[in-house]
Amino acid sequence: MSLLVKGIKRRGKSIGFVPTMGCLHEGHLSLIRRARKENDVVIVSIFVNPIQFGPREDYKRYPRNLTGDIKLVKSSGGNIIFNPTVKSMYPKSFSTSVRVRGLTELLCGISRPGHFEGVTTVCTKLFNIVRPDVAYFGQKDYQQAAIIKRMAEDLNMGFKIKVLPIVREPSGLAMSSRNKYLFNKKRKEASIIYRTLKEAKRLIKSGEKNTARVKECIKDSLLKNPYIKIDYIAVVDPQTLMEQKRIASTVVIAIAVWMGGVRLIDNILVSV
Ligand code: AMP
Repeated sequence: MSLLVKGIKRRGKSIGFVPTMGCLHEGHLSLIRRARKENDVVIVSIFVNPIQFGPREDYKRYPRNLTGDIKLVKSSGGNIIFNPTVKSMYPKSFSTSVRVRGLTELLCGISRPGHFEGVTTVCTKLFNIVRPDVAYFGQKDYQQAAIIKRMAEDLNMGFKIKVLPIVREPSGLAMSSRNKYLFNKKRKEASIIYRTLKEAKRLIKSGEKNTARVKECIKDSLLKNPYIKIDYIAVVDPQTLMEQKRIASTVVIAIAVWMGGVRLIDNILVSV
């Protein structure tokens, strides 16, 4: 890959980069299409990164579909797929870690300790290999994008980061490779998450400034479904991700729930 990248750079071409864990869906493809529009060459990485999964998480059973992914990357305008092996990314001697403080200790960082350190470490490696001009991320993983932006700025990585909107299934459920774990009925019922986010947005828009009351409404709505277990409901500042007691400016409402053993996240930006 390094030689390939060197050649692209030598020819003065720009590189758009879309890092993924594969099992691609329209959410990923929206990033690839945008990268296609804005760059000469689009590189897509497909790598299920073991170090971002906790010991009791789904690394082994995470859905994989390389053959299907290759077709989708091609048809959406990606030029190069980078699909490294775990051994090549993490040889026995590997001993470095990249950790962003603060932002990683909130929201998903609480129930998934070490997760974001795995993400920032792998992204740093990928960025160094691919040397992008622009890297594309999805708002679906709002906290992840905020952390990567922080890291890129802190470490003078020198490329642009773009965060693109959440692509949803017709039901409103945010697309995710993990939706494959949800069988028909639960998949339909999981649309309650986005409905609830929209209700909360309406509530804020209609003048509710009290975060506790907004969160209470979200909780009541979600718990109507007996299969949902709430991990967190948070109303946070879009940059610092700190909880806001009162809603005085734009906030992100972020939700993480468990549904039938599957962890689902979603969020919505609300400007006031
Ligand atoms: P993943 O393969 O889940 O690691 O995701 C790779 C990239 O695709 C990340 O930047 C995600 O935020 C983004 N992504 C995943 N799902 C969606 C979605 N539904 N809409 C937009 N971007 C997404």
